[in-house]
Amino acid sequence: MLTPAAGSQPGSSPDWKGPGPWVVVRQSAARLLCSPPMDETTDDILFVDRPGALEALCERLRGSPWLALDTEFHRETTYRPQLCLVQIATPDLTACIDPLALESLDPLLDLLYDGGVLKVLHAPRQDLEIFHYLRGAPFAPVFDTQLAAPLLGHPDQAGFANLVGAILGVRLAKAHTRADWRRRPLPAAQLRYAGDDVRYLAPLYQRLRAGLEEHGRLDWLDAEFAALSDPARYENPPEQAWRKLRGADRLRGPSLAVLQGLAAWRERTASAEDRPRGWLVKDDTLFDLARMMPASDQDLRHVRGLNEGVVRRHGVAVLESIRTARERAPEPVPAHRAGRRLAPEGDALVDLLMAVVRVRALEHRLSPAVLAPRPEIERLVAGDPGSVLHTGWRRELIGEELGRVLRGEQALRVAEGALCVEPVAP
Ligand SMILES: [Zn+2]
Repeated sequence: MLTPAAGSQPGSSPDWKGPGPWVVVRQSAARLLCSPPMDETTDDILFVDRPGALEALCERLRGSPWLALDTEFHRETTYRPQLCLVQIATPDLTACIDPLALESLDPLLDLLYDGGVLKVLHAPRQDLEIFHYLRGAPFAPVFDTQLAAPLLGHPDQAGFANLVGAILGVRLAKAHTRADWRRRPLPAAQLRYAGDDVRYLAPLYQRLRAGLEEHGRLDWLDAEFAALSDPARYENPPEQAWRKLRGADRLRGPSLAVLQGLAAWRERTASAEDRPRGWLVKDDTLFDLARMMPASDQDLRHVRGLNEGVVRRHGVAVLESIRTARERAPEPVPAHRAGRRLAPEGDALVDLLMAVVRVRALEHRLSPAVLAPRPEIERLVAGDPGSVLHTGWRRELIGEELGRVLRGEQALRVAEGALCVEPVAP
């Protein structure tokens, strides 16, 4: 489900600004390779819904050094996403596999979990999460076209349709993001859309890879790609559930402890019942409960937004969770989350570092916003170890240098009308 990035609109490329002046991707052959779908025939898509056909497909794909991969799923009514379709493409074929019709996906999983096969996806967090649920860990290695594109001058977090438009010159049909992928038989338009997600992902990968190789940037993303396959990314330990609640850092003392306890209770219960978290208790209501700390069944019924069925089935557990949590010391909120707003001196430092970023971005022919986004520089100045400037290619290219400037080990100077960043003489 190649979900478009926030702020970008699938299939509406006209208002999308093409790559900036640092463009290094050429538009050429692929334009001829793929013409946009003129109708809704799906004859060229291999639809796999029988075990024999799945075996045959996987046999055919074995030995491919890489595969373009996408999934469609349904997660509106469950805690765990339900896998509804798996699309795979190579330069030779496009296939859609129907997990709802197949009792076992083992041949496919064996192929995907083969460490010798590179899996190419676009923004694969949700896809990898599904496979994490299916096999207990995400597969590796992976290549994310959304992460790769900015290294070649494309915007950060670009949506799939926008990249296909910019790089392949193909305008994709409107996304079927609201479609119900459990439906069978799948309407032709939906199947065509699902097939296109991988049909164009394959040449997109080839173009991005060639560009990265040409500029010696292929290994820049090694750490970020490896991190995508880290199982810890897809685990939701109940004790940590509160960290995902926006505004948790505004609570203190017993209220914070109660919020933490209730969030853990909700995570465990939603997982056990395989129902969406919000169906049990909405985030806002968790905060109300944490502030009000109801102590009796009677109190509970006065909490607005708390569903009566939930009070009936889980009232005792909720009250117990509140009672034990309020006695505990809360887990501390990380410092950088509590005081996110920088002092004016901090803002001045961010501006100074921005100047260093501009100098290096020019040298590397990257957009400054891609090399070091301002919010990440703010995190760096605030001492947040989670800043992306502390990892991967950004650390090497700019993060370490910004650290040296912050520690006063490197200084800025103007020489012959240009900004220089130099070590401070001892
Ligand atoms: Zn998709």
